[in-house]
Amino acid sequence: MIVEKVNYKIKCDANGCKNAADFAIVNKKFIFSGNIYLCKNCIANLYGEISKFITPKSLKPIYKKGGKDE
Ligand SMILES: [Zn+2]
Repeated sequence: MIVEKVNYKIKCDANGCKNAADFAIVNKKFIFSGNIYLCKNCIANLYGEISKFITPKSLKPIYKKGGKDE
């Protein structure tokens, strides 16, 4: 799944949003049957929501607990 910048005119897919889409979430294999188009505002909101649950790996502190690697 990749996010691409949209450079053609298409409406944002978010419910009730009337903006033109700026980004497309493109899916080739799973989860969605087609592309999802979102404007800047909606993708920012979505990112905010996702970040409640998933912390980007680069921001995670690295702890060595002596697991699989030494
Ligand atoms: Zn939108």
